[in-house]
Amino acid sequence: MEYVSTRGSAPALDFEGATLAGLAADGGLYLPREWPRFTTGQIAAMRALPYPELAARVMQPFVGDSLTPQRLRELCEQAYGRFAHAAVTPLTQLDERHWLLELFHGPTLAFKDVALQLLGLLFEEFLGRRDERLTIVGATSGDTGSAAIDAVAGRERIDIFMLHPKGRVSDVQRRQMTTVKAPNVYNVAIDGSFDDAQAMVKRMFGDAAMTGRFRISAVNSINWARLMAQVVYYFAAALQLGGPERKVAFSVPTGNFGDVFAGHVAARMGLPIERLIVATNVNDILHRALSAGDYSAGTVTPTAAPSMDIQVSSNFERLLFDVGGRDGRALAEQMRGFEASKAMRLTNAQREGAAALFTSARADAAQMSQAMRWAWEKCDGEVIDPHTAIGLHAALHAGLPECVPVVTLATAHPAKFPEAVERAIGRRPSLPARAGNLFERDERYVELPGDYAAIAAYVAEHAAPSR
Ligand SMILES: *Cc1c(COP(=O)(O)O)cnc(C)c1O
Repeated sequence: MEYVSTRGSAPALDFEGATLAGLAADGGLYLPREWPRFTTGQIAAMRALPYPELAARVMQPFVGDSLTPQRLRELCEQAYGRFAHAAVTPLTQLDERHWLLELFHGPTLAFKDVALQLLGLLFEEFLGRRDERLTIVGATSGDTGSAAIDAVAGRERIDIFMLHPKGRVSDVQRRQMTTVKAPNVYNVAIDGSFDDAQAMVKRMFGDAAMTGRFRISAVNSINWARLMAQVVYYFAAALQLGGPERKVAFSVPTGNFGDVFAGHVAARMGLPIERLIVATNVNDILHRALSAGDYSAGTVTPTAAPSMDIQVSSNFERLLFDVGGRDGRALAEQMRGFEASKAMRLTNAQREGAAALFTSARADAAQMSQAMRWAWEKCDGEVIDPHTAIGLHAALHAGLPECVPVVTLATAHPAKFPEAVERAIGRRPSLPARAGNLFERDERYVELPGDYAAIAAYVAEHAAPSR
């Protein structure tokens, strides 16, 4: 399988190359040159497979020759063996037609673990083959950071630098990152928003002084391998609810557009999906883009769902590329315009292409709390986190045909956001045992200004060269 950049001028890479690269050299994002497709019969034959086996089956076409089927299955077994639930991503029924897909049974209590536990193993596999070292530089609005750190802490060939916006992640999220003591883990609190942090990470990929010395890679969902791993649970859920003979809808709490894009990929691979509902909080650039073609970034408003406090959604570029004619040069031009003015209009092809599968909805703080209360009161004491609540709000108001099951992706464990949950339902969820004694451990991180030169100097001082 070959991977091409959404901006049309970076060299095509194989799976191993795309995984290690993260962002493409032309500033674009890697996507498979074409979508592998399963027949209905092939999908039906996946029903009732154990999760690691299903994962290997769904991902093999994307991996191509980079791993043997046997090795891919072993890595899936190792990655998903660390999950606390045997089904890895179990479904919970809320009422006649609404379901939760619980994606938070991994070590750091959010769905990011599903992809990052595997990505850590893929990195180790590919670096070992090449006898190389990797410098991971990432920006996190909360959950990516802890999941990535857990996935690579202590691995010999990797250093990880994780930037988080100071004071804008929850205490649990911060402590999950900063209490990890492995010597290859560097936490940086920056003055600024998640978007500022993400912009600095992107800039480092284009900085020859850095890329000449270090093999810099990404663990943000700009890394294709992450999205690939997330495709699997759309198959897992649909197969349990009558797919592929019956269409299922998904409501996805969305920030960087990675998770919901994985749903788009599942549909491209032949999984019958009725709708993908993009649920945003008041940071609603995606809702405006999908409903009115207006992709213009405002300022970020901090909310109780911090992992969705994003105005620039990196992976949206992948959708624009895929539904807008796959014209890398035209998209590069469009993105340059966006980077200059922070605003752009979608083309008609992009709007119509997106509308075929996607709808969107926005929830404010009151609607979010209301959805948490609905689950608590109407669904026998179901406790959901603020991100999931935004997805559930969108699901409950989607207006889809009655016969379509609607699956809301439960992206985080409620105990990651205890204050918001307590405000909504009057109960404080407690941390599951696998989170450990987070509040008794010492924290370790540096504070740096939101300034590219300072960040680059810090990374250069601490990272090991690629060979
Ligand atoms: C990362 C995250 C999201 C947003 O997912 P994207 O792939 O960035 O759209 C939603 N909820 C939680 C809990 C998250 O950690």
